[in-house]
Amino acid sequence: MCIMTTGLADLHRHIDGSLRMQTVLELANERGLDLPQPFGFSPNMGLEQALAQFAFTLRLLDTEEALERVAGEICEDATAEGVTTLELRFAPQLHGRGLAGVDDFVDATLRGIDGRAGLLLCGLYGESPEVLETLVECAAERPGVVGIDLAGGPLPGHGHGMADYRAAFVRAGELGLGRTVHAGEGRPPAEIRAAVETLCADRLGHATTILRDPAVVELVRERGLTIEACITSNMQVGAIASCAAHPLPRWIESGLKVCICTDNTLLSATTLPAELEVALGIEGVDQEMIEQTIAFAHAAAFTRTGRSEHPHEV
Ligand SMILES: [Zn+2]
Repeated sequence: MCIMTTGLADLHRHIDGSLRMQTVLELANERGLDLPQPFGFSPNMGLEQALAQFAFTLRLLDTEEALERVAGEICEDATAEGVTTLELRFAPQLHGRGLAGVDDFVDATLRGIDGRAGLLLCGLYGESPEVLETLVECAAERPGVVGIDLAGGPLPGHGHGMADYRAAFVRAGELGLGRTVHAGEGRPPAEIRAAVETLCADRLGHATTILRDPAVVELVRERGLTIEACITSNMQVGAIASCAAHPLPRWIESGLKVCICTDNTLLSATTLPAELEVALGIEGVDQEMIEQTIAFAHAAAFTRTGRSEHPHEV
């Protein structure tokens, strides 16, 4: 594919899902671990099965050295893909030391990134609000952290919901951090509305169900929010029936802003150029639309200085 812009942008790439396979083998060998079988996402495996794959990669990223190395390698890989604007994300509380390890793991990751990407810290659906609050305070002192995220997915047994995370998200906004939320990943569009209204999301992860509710489309369009579309990942977790069924062209026709992202290059066995090819294979998507999504991605990148005003928060 001929890309006319000077560089690509990937705003949604999870560190613990985007390791190099060679590095996985080395880190597993050092730790005496065998690869789970099967390893990686497969078509329509469902979100829960997909999330279970991270249990293994998290065991490989249990030291600051491993995280620093992997963060650096992901930046190199993205550069090789032609990415000039990159955001990486991870949940430092999951790397074996709980909240006590957050600052050290974030610092190690920032060393690995070395200014080549913005870093987002992820809280997870169901976690205590204290976790999100800790991540926001960690971010407050580290300009390399440009945003926060709510990742994973809600489960019936969870004792905490979105409303419990509002204070942390509002505080993040006060600090100039960008806010994104995994919302509507095959789940009803009411979740997208809550991400916008309760968590003041500046961007939305996935939002595959948004067209089911025209009022939510209007809300997201009115606020000018950008949706991070991860097409292969959406197909694999079963949020869409097939890559060809992704609503990307209808979103753009509806006036929604959307950027194309990888989610997890290792687990989905993809790259950003590969995802752009997948998008181009959707009926109704042409080269001009792809260029538009790349422009949306560059424009929606989080910067600590550029996002201090959040007029929709009141
Ligand atoms: Zn994600």
